[in-house]
Amino acid sequence: MATQRTMKDYCWTCGADQQHRQLDKKEEAWLKERLGRAGVGEFWICVNVLDPDTGRQCRNLRTGFNKKPFAEPLKIPVLE
Ligand SMILES: [Zn+2]
Repeated sequence: MATQRTMKDYCWTCGADQQHRQLDKKEEAWLKERLGRAGVGEFWICVNVLDPDTGRQCRNLRTGFNKKPFAEPLKIPVLE
C-alpha cells in the first residue's frame, strides 16, 4: 500500500507552517497543462483547512525549496 508523502512547511498564503502533501495524478495532469511542463514532481499542495464548515482546503502550491514559486498564488482547483 502506497503511503502518501506529506511534509510540514511554510505556506505563504496561510502565513504559517502547514501540512502539505504531494499531488495526486489528476492534480499533476492539471498542473502540467497549466504550466506547460512535462514534470511537476517538485510541487506540494497545502492541505490546511480554511473553512471548517465545508472542509475547503488552501491548496496553494510550493516546492520543497521555494515557498513562493509563482508571483501570484497558484491554487489547484478541486478536480472531479
Ligand atoms: Zn496554505
